[in-house]
Amino acid sequence: MREFIAIAKPLVGDEELSAIGEVLSSGMLTQGEVVKKFEDGFSRYLGVENSIAVSNGTVALDLAVKALGLKDGDEVISPAFTFIATANCILYQGLKPVFADVDERTFNLDPADLAEKITPKTKAVIGVHLYGQPFDLKGVQQVCQDHNLALIEDCAQAHGAEHHGKKVGSFATGCFSFYPTKNMTTGEGGMITTNDDAVAERLRLIRNHGDTGKYNHVLVGYNYRMTNIQGAIGQVQLGKLEEFIGRRLENAKYLSSHLKAKEITPPYVAKDIRHVYNQYVVRVEDDFPCTREDLMAYLQSKGVGSAIHYPKPVYDQPIYRDLGLKGSCPVAEDVSRRVLSLPVHPSLKKEDLEYIAQVINSYGG
Ligand SMILES: *Cc1c(COP(=O)(O)O)cnc(C)c1O
Repeated sequence: MREFIAIAKPLVGDEELSAIGEVLSSGMLTQGEVVKKFEDGFSRYLGVENSIAVSNGTVALDLAVKALGLKDGDEVISPAFTFIATANCILYQGLKPVFADVDERTFNLDPADLAEKITPKTKAVIGVHLYGQPFDLKGVQQVCQDHNLALIEDCAQAHGAEHHGKKVGSFATGCFSFYPTKNMTTGEGGMITTNDDAVAERLRLIRNHGDTGKYNHVLVGYNYRMTNIQGAIGQVQLGKLEEFIGRRLENAKYLSSHLKAKEITPPYVAKDIRHVYNQYVVRVEDDFPCTREDLMAYLQSKGVGSAIHYPKPVYDQPIYRDLGLKGSCPVAEDVSRRVLSLPVHPSLKKEDLEYIAQVINSYGG
């Protein structure tokens, strides 16, 4: 029988295993030299001054917002169409999330709607490079500049993505995740990137109980450290990242040229950017012979995993409704009813891709 094709699959092997083994035998298990090396490698890869490793991507966003030093009642704008962590990190700091709409083709922040959502209380914007495609950095940066707003890049899905030849996470404060479904993994893990040395120093202190060394605590910090075990996996994965991305690009190219139904719209790729396909997301249009949910069930019955990233705008999640944070983003509402993520991960074989395309093309006979 054919093996089920999962929507995501981390690709780890013997190199990671032996790197973990070295850490275990060294006895230096938590944050130390191994994490430092991973951070330095990450900075070199991205072309940034500072990388600060933390426990996960949510913590990276939490600290990036915290480092802005905003006050109660200040507003921070997030796209309405993203994973919930993007907006939650605004709530963690007692700030008010305000939702901006997205572009119907790229699913990313729409600079025009972003400008519309600005009020005198707006202090910052979190842009998301959704699915691995950079958002319109030029447009968003211009709006931020015009209104004196700080910018944070949620790069959780976009390691290695580029905008005009420059890597995401190097334009503003970047926040990465190394969760197993992302383009590289450390099990759980995260990274904050910045060219501002003072911000980096503050983030390093907050990460480790405000300790300047030898139990001298200068601010109320946390334990948000990454372990050397994660750092060792991260170093190996970083070395493989370009190969992983190369395979994702090939897989995406195959799918885009082999999905035949005209009612299935393949991913749109904006000009002068490098999309790294953390997710391969099609739009199932209204005139497709069945609903998106029926198509998912059919794929599942044929042994092909798929997923909906994400089924509703953040502001329609129960907790955001309860908090009275309802937004108004018609495009986000529309695309959340159409998007469907198909497998694109680097473990897929040629025959898996052929099979996925064949199953979708055969729908309805
Ligand atoms: C995965 C993800 C996060 C959170 O990262 P974790 O490591 O799972 O905490 C944040 N934002 C986006 C867009 C993500 O995809």
